[in-house]
Amino acid sequence: MLKLTNINKTFGQHQALKNINITFNEHETTVILGPSGSGKSTLLRSLNFLERPESGTYDFDGTVLDLSKHVSEKDIFRIRRETEMVFQNYNLFPHLTITKNITEGPVQVLKQPKASATENAHALLAKVGLAGHENKYPSQLSGGQAQRVAIARSLAMNPKYILLDEPTSALDPELELEVLKVLVTIAKEKRSMIIVTHNMAFAQKIADKIVFVENGEILFDGPKETFFHSDNQRINDFISAMT
Ligand code: ATP
Ligand code: MG
Repeated sequence: MLKLTNINKTFGQHQALKNINITFNEHETTVILGPSGSGKSTLLRSLNFLERPESGTYDFDGTVLDLSKHVSEKDIFRIRRETEMVFQNYNLFPHLTITKNITEGPVQVLKQPKASATENAHALLAKVGLAGHENKYPSQLSGGQAQRVAIARSLAMNPKYILLDEPTSALDPELELEVLKVLVTIAKEKRSMIIVTHNMAFAQKIADKIVFVENGEILFDGPKETFFHSDNQRINDFISAMT
């Protein structure tokens, strides 16, 4: 379980996160929605210490960290291992084959034997629809294929949470669809995913829980069914503007 309490994050004069309280349960997919500039990426990035809120507590499975104090590298390393981020621009290593891109973390960080890491990488590539591409380099892939490799790479680390910030925003609609399908398959396996997206149809399909952020605050945090049948005017205005 991952729980944030009274989190604040300020950039200069701008308070991007205002006293955020939220719990992300395991084995469900949480979708973070909200207007541009509302603080979605800041919230997601705070979950794996890519952003450092200046106050609040971060509770990961009972390890409670006070963010206004020093947090040890060891704690950050451990939390990063359990919260893999999939980036908008894939961040694949260009000089490695896609299989090697996937095995790098498991072999170097998790100390898995090369042979089993490779076997697992091939299985994950098949799972994301890329069987037969094992020996290609990232430059030989489409954007949608590259993003699916990035997803396979995050799965190979077997983290508790997979974080995705607008994973398909760099893709054409056709390529986007392939990636969204893979994410829906993963969600069905009851992995724990936290996804920022502007795609409402996708959110409606994949989410167990919706978090709606506006102006650095959480306006809604609950089941998708409640969000999409809300009697809150602001939420309904947002949904209509986005669909
Ligand atoms: P979008 O949908 O456009 O990606 P977002 O909801 O992800 O928006 P954030 O990127 O979290 O929004 O930004 C929240 C606010 O914090 C914005 O006003 C943004 O300008 C500001 N902000 C974010 N990162 C920084 C930074 N590194 N330095 C200064 N201001 C920042
Ligand atoms: Mg963002």
